[in-house]
Amino acid sequence: MNIEYLSQYYKNLLNTYDSSKQMMEIMESHLGFKPNQILHANSICSDDINEIEFPKHVYKMLGPFRMGGLDGFPFAGLTGIKAYSSHVPEEGALFIYFGPHIGHSDGSELGMVKRTGQNFYSSCCGAATLALAKLQKGQIKEGEITELDYQQNVLEQILLKNADRILSSTCQIYEATEVIYEAIKERILLLLGQTTLNCRYLILAGGVVINSGGTNSFSSTRIFHCIEQQSGAQKDLLPFMKFESVSNSKLSF
Ligand SMILES: [Zn+2]
Repeated sequence: MNIEYLSQYYKNLLNTYDSSKQMMEIMESHLGFKPNQILHANSICSDDINEIEFPKHVYKMLGPFRMGGLDGFPFAGLTGIKAYSSHVPEEGALFIYFGPHIGHSDGSELGMVKRTGQNFYSSCCGAATLALAKLQKGQIKEGEITELDYQQNVLEQILLKNADRILSSTCQIYEATEVIYEAIKERILLLLGQTTLNCRYLILAGGVVINSGGTNSFSSTRIFHCIEQQSGAQKDLLPFMKFESVSNSKLSF
């Protein structure tokens, strides 16, 4: 993991172990919740590399409810988010972490990672990389979504709608991942807007997960804020996170 290289692309970098620990502590100290009052959902890629190591304390949250499919798009849809919201403890909080992922191992470019037991680099996110390759070759047909490869086809359509932006970028896999981040965020907000939430707080955290191999990863956090459901009051929790500790992080290498 080359932090200097990564910092050209991503801000607010922390290893995921530390960022999840900080988020948990902030939810406890600023909102007054115990972990077992928080129902966690995530919308991250179903790739096995996203079985990330979290601090023990973080596992005390309820869940996770898994909303994400390929590259973290919330394919569980309206039914998924309605089910998730109905599982929250009374007077509890819903905490949703969402975002796409991208690989970067030591010595690799963005979008490539060395996986456990392999001595070569492979694409990460593989689905985003494949969709980008089809976009580059002009092989994505507008509106083509098949039953056999539904999730991949949806990602392809997202990239196709942003073809000019992606293809004019000097780092196309980075740009494609940015486009997917925005699509995930937009869809989650749309789904939440159509769902009655029976909780005290909704807490949203979004970012890009950067897998560096094994279960190690970094996170570039973009948003972390909560909305009190009764009053509608919003509180930005991002300023309470400390990002300067990245070089001293437990899992950095
Ligand atoms: Zn993926």
